[in-house]
Amino acid sequence: MVHALLRCANMKTFILILLSMRLATSHLYAADPCPVCKGEVTTVGKIKDDPSNSRKNEWVWSTSPECGPALFDGNSLICKRCWFAKQPMKPDAWWVRSTVLPDSFFIPLSAAIRNFPAPPNLANYDQKFIREHRTDSISFMCKITPEMTSKFRKYCKEHKLSLDLTEFKSGEVLVVVSKEEAQQAAPSDVEKPPK
Ligand SMILES: [Zn+2]
Repeated sequence: MVHALLRCANMKTFILILLSMRLATSHLYAADPCPVCKGEVTTVGKIKDDPSNSRKNEWVWSTSPECGPALFDGNSLICKRCWFAKQPMKPDAWWVRSTVLPDSFFIPLSAAIRNFPAPPNLANYDQKFIREHRTDSISFMCKITPEMTSKFRKYCKEHKLSLDLTEFKSGEVLVVVSKEEAQQAAPSDVEKPPK
């Protein structure tokens, strides 16, 4: 009985130590550098709210109610260098950035996405890292004609891109074009030879 109690007490201590280690690890994780550029990570709440913030990352500062505020809050992690933010609801390390500025990504967007024949001044560019996989995409809303649809399909086929068209009641179509790259995020990892 005494042995059993002792074992029980030891088990409790063991579990407490494990728990505190996990807490310490999660605290350390918060201070880990950005997986995209190795820059310093902070929280969204510590970034000054200025009008240019939506250009840094539209996922976080978008004015659209179903995007930014629903997914990110003041405690969400964000990189002070490349402006990638970690999606809090995604445990598999989703780091995302969206902007209207295609040339402002730390790891340049795929040329096929940058050069997609989108109507001028409409597009948003996205980059997303899920574990070792990177996805580049472009999205925009427009009134679409059959000629445009066939031009988009042809371009996507030639450049091995996936095309997603969603029509809304207004007659406008949301066009999303994406390219998946099996590539590690951080530059030091990118240089590793393929397995
Ligand atoms: Zn970064």
